[in-house]
Amino acid sequence: MIDYSFSFKKYFFFFFILFFSITSAQKKFTVVLDAGHGGSDHGANRNYSETGTLREKDVTLAIVLKLGRMLEKNKDFKIIYTRKIDEFPSLTERTTLANRSKADLFVSVHCNASTKTAPYGTETFVQGPDQNKTNLEVAKAENDVIFLDERDREMFASYDPKSPESLIALKIQQSKYLESSLLFGSFVEGNFVKKDKRYSRGVKQQNLHVLRLNAMPSVLIETGFISNYDDAMYLASEKGQTEIAESIYDAITDYKKAIDRNATAAPKAEPVPEEKPLKNDFRILLMSSPSKYNAGDPALKGLNYVLPIKENGLYKYYYGTTNMASVRDNNLKTARDAGFKNATSISFIPNQKLGIGYYTLEIAVSPQKLSSNSAVLNTLKNVNRVKENGSFYYTYGKFSSLEEAVKEQKDIELKGVKNTVIQKVLK
Ligand SMILES: [Zn+2]
Repeated sequence: MIDYSFSFKKYFFFFFILFFSITSAQKKFTVVLDAGHGGSDHGANRNYSETGTLREKDVTLAIVLKLGRMLEKNKDFKIIYTRKIDEFPSLTERTTLANRSKADLFVSVHCNASTKTAPYGTETFVQGPDQNKTNLEVAKAENDVIFLDERDREMFASYDPKSPESLIALKIQQSKYLESSLLFGSFVEGNFVKKDKRYSRGVKQQNLHVLRLNAMPSVLIETGFISNYDDAMYLASEKGQTEIAESIYDAITDYKKAIDRNATAAPKAEPVPEEKPLKNDFRILLMSSPSKYNAGDPALKGLNYVLPIKENGLYKYYYGTTNMASVRDNNLKTARDAGFKNATSISFIPNQKLGIGYYTLEIAVSPQKLSSNSAVLNTLKNVNRVKENGSFYYTYGKFSSLEEAVKEQKDIELKGVKNTVIQKVLK
């Protein structure tokens, strides 16, 4: 977390007290340069007779290396690269690196692509709630890459890049960096227009993972369309790459000046308190129903990661799980926006053991007995069968906490036993 007023005070402390004697102790302005994609992730690419296959990952790296060399010559800056070669750092690695280094600015460089050849120009994205459809397409293309990495998959377990709902639901409060990000973005786009005579599509707000998790002002620059001939030739050229790098370089130095001026003007900015996790977990109860709906059922109105828990013959459908108040409130809003007008947030004590009763997994409900060589009965041992109201109910396992049941549910899903329902048995 960077508080500019603090950096500034620290700077002046050295300035006045130590009379320039320890100039090297002055905090450098740290910029993380992120060349989009890399390694097995090529990003967008197109074939042109002039260039052969023009790949986004190569263009972004070339621009970032040029930009980095310019910044490294300026003693005010410290530069951190997420990659300097053709490799693929995971999203987690990119953002963890940025956060650990307590960077002042995160700049991710990308190239755009469209299914049509006509669209051209530059645009810069900052983290934000805007849900414009075209932007969403960019979000999908740029976010999809994170799913190449298993660790990311785990971290974003409750995130589905295809679902606009989850884009809203999992938005993390970033407003404190939004203003700075917008300012920097406007410098970048302004330079592309003024210095390089390019067409700017503007500075836009979008939920992009690579921006979302950064604890610093962050932008993602789409430096042109690889799918457009003129843009592609420019992106592939030495001249184009140098102009883009120079424009971003000038934007960074102007941005630093603006930040330093602000620090002088308002040395006592209120620090924004960091959100503390709550003691309990919260899930959004969407509805209770005697019917069982599997993931993707229209009854769930497009919401993903809904956890049904069966209790007294009714299926209760819970959406999301979080111990952050802001995320909980967002999830509730998402559920209501999706059409669950009576959705309400329910608190769960983490790892609470049931005093009476237990949790089990309902693995199948069938009007006939399952054959003894059915896939489910072959996969799982000690499955219980109960006949009730003319149907056979098959359950598996006994767990004292919801978390244990969720874990086993995931484990047996990996073995192919899907669409099971956690059941709370009180007896
Ligand atoms: Zn990209």
